[in-house]
Amino acid sequence: MQVVVALEDVRARVREARRAGVRIGFVPTMGALHEGHLSLVRQARARAGLVATSIFVNPLQFGPADDFARYPRDPARDRALAATAGVDLLWMPDAAAMYPSPPAVMVAPGQAGERLEGASRPGHFAGVLTVVLKLFALVEPDVAIFGRKDFQQAALIRAMVRDFNLPVAIVVAPTVRERDGLALSSRNAYLDAPARAAATALCRALGRGVEAYRRGERRAAAITQAARLVLEGQAGVVPDYVECAAPDDLRPVETVEAETVLAVAARVGGTRLIDNVVLGDGLEGDVHLSG
Ligand code: AMP
Repeated sequence: MQVVVALEDVRARVREARRAGVRIGFVPTMGALHEGHLSLVRQARARAGLVATSIFVNPLQFGPADDFARYPRDPARDRALAATAGVDLLWMPDAAAMYPSPPAVMVAPGQAGERLEGASRPGHFAGVLTVVLKLFALVEPDVAIFGRKDFQQAALIRAMVRDFNLPVAIVVAPTVRERDGLALSSRNAYLDAPARAAATALCRALGRGVEAYRRGERRAAAITQAARLVLEGQAGVVPDYVECAAPDDLRPVETVEAETVLAVAARVGGTRLIDNVVLGDGLEGDVHLSG
């Protein structure tokens, strides 16, 4: 595995591979790598001859009240995990090179970016889409892999690729979960033991929503209420939103279908976590760690 920092080095390396006819697969991350990220690397490995991964904690997507300063960073561990998972090119740009001055132009996400996470975190998706567009411009990947854990982010990236005719295929990979169902997240590192135990309320809430769907419930309000009761019944958990959304444009739905996404966000002992499930797939559609 080759590790690069400079923008011109990553560009030179991928261009050289492309000239040799090699397909480029790309997995953008913010580091503090876990099995969720590594599953995306394996998806890229299966589709490309050169797998590039970026690690960049993007200041543009954090609001003033967010956790940018304390976001977990462990470059040495990340390097070791990336090498084992099959990354060929690990790119760790620094913020001064990515943003020599504040960007004069940013990608505006439109209505789908104002719902759910966008409503709770103003400006978040403009920051995400802007950095992803920059990363795509530098890596020029044939295929890029994103996690369904962040399904709104994946939907907005698909929309950006479609609307801007970007020559990259987007693959969205299933959520990787701990044995007890908690979705893997770099932010789980913030959870102390009681908060870690309480955090399963998110996936239990999703499970309750899926149960209601399987019993034949189709009213979104009844499904979100069933899920919300689980969050509200768990000490140490403060729900943010519980919503049923259409998978493409994230609009709120009144009547659910198999493709409808049930999405939750909550604060658990001060840490904000998100999770979601496609009602027709259920949590079994995701990957559960066995170790
Ligand atoms: P992050 O480092 O949190 O920005 O995430 C980088 C990529 O990993 C994004 O495409 C995420 O959706 C994806 N990801 C994060 N957590 C998981 C997970 N538990 N399962 C699958 N993909 C994930």
